[in-house]
Amino acid sequence: MELLYRSTRGEKKAYTASEAVLQGLAKDGGLFVPDSIPALERPISEFAGFSYQETAYEVMKLFLTDYTEEELKHCINSAYDDKFDTKLIAPLVKKGDAYYLELFHGATIAFKDMALSILPYLMVTAAKKNHCDNEIVILTATSGDTGKAALAGFADVSGTKIIVFYPKGGVSPIQEKQMLTQKGNNAFVVGIHGNFDDAQSGVKALFNDKELAKTMDEAGFQFSSANSINIGRLVPQVVYYVYSYAQLLAMGEITEGESINVTVPTGNFGNILAAYYAKQMGVPIQKLICASNDNKVLYDFFTTGCYDRNREFILTTSPSMDILISSNLERLIYKIAGADSEKDAALMSDLTKKGKYEITDEMKAQLADFYGNYATEAQTAAQIKKLYEECGYIMDTHTAVASCVYDKYVKDSGDHTKTVIASTASPYKFTRSVMNAIDPAYDVKSDFELVDELNKLSNVAVPNAIEEIRTAPILHNRVCDGDKMKETVCDILGLNQ
Ligand SMILES: *Cc1c(COP(=O)(O)O)cnc(C)c1O
Repeated sequence: MELLYRSTRGEKKAYTASEAVLQGLAKDGGLFVPDSIPALERPISEFAGFSYQETAYEVMKLFLTDYTEEELKHCINSAYDDKFDTKLIAPLVKKGDAYYLELFHGATIAFKDMALSILPYLMVTAAKKNHCDNEIVILTATSGDTGKAALAGFADVSGTKIIVFYPKGGVSPIQEKQMLTQKGNNAFVVGIHGNFDDAQSGVKALFNDKELAKTMDEAGFQFSSANSINIGRLVPQVVYYVYSYAQLLAMGEITEGESINVTVPTGNFGNILAAYYAKQMGVPIQKLICASNDNKVLYDFFTTGCYDRNREFILTTSPSMDILISSNLERLIYKIAGADSEKDAALMSDLTKKGKYEITDEMKAQLADFYGNYATEAQTAAQIKKLYEECGYIMDTHTAVASCVYDKYVKDSGDHTKTVIASTASPYKFTRSVMNAIDPAYDVKSDFELVDELNKLSNVAVPNAIEEIRTAPILHNRVCDGDKMKETVCDILGLNQ
């Protein structure tokens, strides 16, 4: 049966999966949600023998029902190949009292690769299926990791261009260098004077600009999104939660049907939403532990039912989580509003106008699956040091936020259910913060000296993604103000305004 997608904000039209992937965001500014979450077609125990690619097919075919088997397998096999430095694609390692699901073995060493390795294939396939002749312009705002992963995925993909906006000064030096050294004639990187939310709001405004859409169409272009609001990002992320449960079974760490908890370091709410979808598909997940850094808007939301972005934006050592508007939360809001798009649209309008909204008690009651907490900068650093000293395992700052929040959860609840922690970046991507956490004396060294020190301490080989930027030339130098993003896009595309 065909699964269709609809906007969270009331546009009546139903879209096929490939149409939703191609379009990115709904025309009314809402996000596409499937009419229902499909249940797994096989008992989860059967997945214990499956490869990552086989798991991906079994999960994704249920969501992307208008892709043929051949198309979907082509997308999966092209994405999850030797760009990943392990055949397991997403290995699960036990350290301390938790299981770390390492999602950083792809080309840009952050979990964004899990979805952005496949999105270009899903999108090009969708364009063909829908007889789209326009060139697709991927417009993306990044808090650091999406940008590089999207650039790597779309570079030199014919029929596409990619433009990435990032907050100048709001990403780590290695993240910035990774983006600015990106090759590909169709790839453009722009720093903006502003923070991630400014970049994301600017991109959303460009998507909703009807006049620009018309000019673009006349010139043979159309926008799509590689941000985590695209269902082509969300669906591939559901896969690794199914896979991690199956790995726990295969390793004999759990018995069939045993529940697990999942802890996710959260920013835009995409990764944890994928875990929530996995739960609804039938994976025995009990609690979804949502970990924030000092930008703890989600913690406050889960505790009070009030989402309030009116607060200081704090730059932390986990920059990919420095977000005050968690876009994907809208999909959860829509669900707990009983798939009522009017209610959802009213709340999102409050968010735009007043910077906050409050959900009803009835809605709040449906959030029992979630637990939210946060880790301060000092706690995050202490957690890195602690796990290193106890297990010799060095995690990145984002994973450390999750690890710390997991400890808080166990303390609060006394719940010792086996827990998977999403490990979202390689420590090599945030080397300075990681090494400073272990010993502040490292801070005097240069970024690449620190890479070598990290290599000595961790005994983990320096990833290719880092080796290749040591000497790579800077290829991008565009910078603009937050209110000049439209002009910049027109300039890049050669459009007259
Ligand atoms: C993007 C990112 C996150 C946050 O994920 P969301 O899906 O936006 O919640 C966490 N850690 C790292 C390293 C990331 O790149």
